Amino acid sequence: MEELTGSTVSRSVREGQIRIAIAGGGLRATSVLRLLNDIENLSVAAVYDPSRTAPAMRLAEDLGVFTTTQASELAQIAGLDLILDLSDDIVVREALESERQPDVAIITGNGSELVWDLLIAKKRSEEQEKIFVELQVAYDKIRSHERRLQSSKEALERANEELESRLAEIFFTHEFFKALTTFSSVDDVTSLIVDGANGILGAEISAVYLFEHRDWTLHLRASQGRPEEFFRPSMPVSETLLGVAFREGFVQQTDVAGGAGLADWAAHSDEVRSQAAMPLRSGDSVIGVLLIASATFRELTQAERDRLQVIANQSSLALQNALLHEELERLSVTDRLTELYNHGYLHQRLDEEIERAMRFGHRLSVIMLDIDDFKQFNDRYGHPRGDTVLKAVSAIIRQNLREIDVAARYGGEEFVVVLPETDVAGALAVAERIRASTESYPNIADDHGERVVQTVSLGVATYPLHASDGASLIESADQAMYRAKRTGKNRVVVAV
Ligand code: GH3
Ligand code: MG
Ligand code: MG
Repeated sequence: MEELTGSTVSRSVREGQIRIAIAGGGLRATSVLRLLNDIENLSVAAVYDPSRTAPAMRLAEDLGVFTTTQASELAQIAGLDLILDLSDDIVVREALESERQPDVAIITGNGSELVWDLLIAKKRSEEQEKIFVELQVAYDKIRSHERRLQSSKEALERANEELESRLAEIFFTHEFFKALTTFSSVDDVTSLIVDGANGILGAEISAVYLFEHRDWTLHLRASQGRPEEFFRPSMPVSETLLGVAFREGFVQQTDVAGGAGLADWAAHSDEVRSQAAMPLRSGDSVIGVLLIASATFRELTQAERDRLQVIANQSSLALQNALLHEELERLSVTDRLTELYNHGYLHQRLDEEIERAMRFGHRLSVIMLDIDDFKQFNDRYGHPRGDTVLKAVSAIIRQNLREIDVAARYGGEEFVVVLPETDVAGALAVAERIRASTESYPNIADDHGERVVQTVSLGVATYPLHASDGASLIESADQAMYRAKRTGKNRVVVAV
């Protein structure tokens, strides 16, 4: 390889091109021609072979490379740097040696083998390089594809989550509105509203305050998210965010500033960071305020405000009905199921009767009655049949009383009878009659028409013997009744 590093080669490199001639037109010459043709700073100036049909000669023609069948002609080409003799022919080599220009190097035998190996190595590394670049491109494509896939997968997951939470919300909303049409008491409706605020809007804290006309205050009726002590039980409509909503409509405060007093519906107002309040209306008047709040920053979006509005609109109708119902109950004096007096009326009458007894020095007795094992009866025969038992017991009580006596349904399956001008013995007789009539009452039947025996336990207490006011008298009768329960039920016990 001496020749390659010689001054001639250096000169040509400086000029940018190495001009090579190839002697021999065999297959190896063809490969060398093809390889050299691909190399930038090299050019093949000519190919020699005695036969024009030799493969390298034909390729040279295709590539536009000069060809000759005279070795001496090849040797004389001007500007050559190098002759590569691949002919394996001693005659050809001697011709090249004798005819070559002064500065032209000739590589033969081992030298040409080496060039061949170098060229093959270069080609391979070029190919590897090319494959590597192609791999790189393919890898980048795969990566970007993967990234796109990943991001669409994430988007899909987000959409899925969103959908699931919307579905849960729709489901809850449906249940909520269904419940609103069936719940009737004010407590039921207001607790449903706070549950709705929690379920539909994810409210951390929520409460319903109802407006009280008498003194222009708002009263806590239901709450969620904190213990009840956290909420102020009542406040004037001029105060807190609830007051603002009461007067002006929906209002929200995303960052509750300390000391402003707008969160003073909370015992620890410093725990409240964001809050919103929505009036509950009946026609033009406000019947209450729905409050939602959280300990962290929260701003209701327009969509959430709309949902809050829907909750408020839908529930205020149910609330209005429940309030009306409650008012009617309060005004009425009788219990609907049994048609006996109710708890409220009983207390009023008892106080009047005790006052009268006090004034005239009369005795007065009360009987407390409780149905035995009634839960068991309900469990076994169902609530509706339980109701017929309540009616039957009420009828029995009524049958055993005088005009001036007062009978009331005191609680679920508890009854109180007030017997004016009656002493212990008189009351005991009445109680015993009621007990015996109930035990032998023929019209309580099971599914097969078989008679079911239902019993009651009773307690008797007498003014002024056992107590000096209405509430204590009832308490004494109640304790006596419990002794009747403890000592075996289906009996009458007098207070001590
Ligand atoms: P005890 O003998 O100790 O009184 O047992 P009990 O099962 O009667 O007492 P408890 O207080 O455990 O149950 C009272 C039951 O009365 C529970 C409730 O199902 C039933 N009850 C209360 N009000 C009504 C009502 O209006 N209708 C019906 N059907 N059942 C009622
Ligand atoms: Mg009871
Ligand atoms: Mg009972």
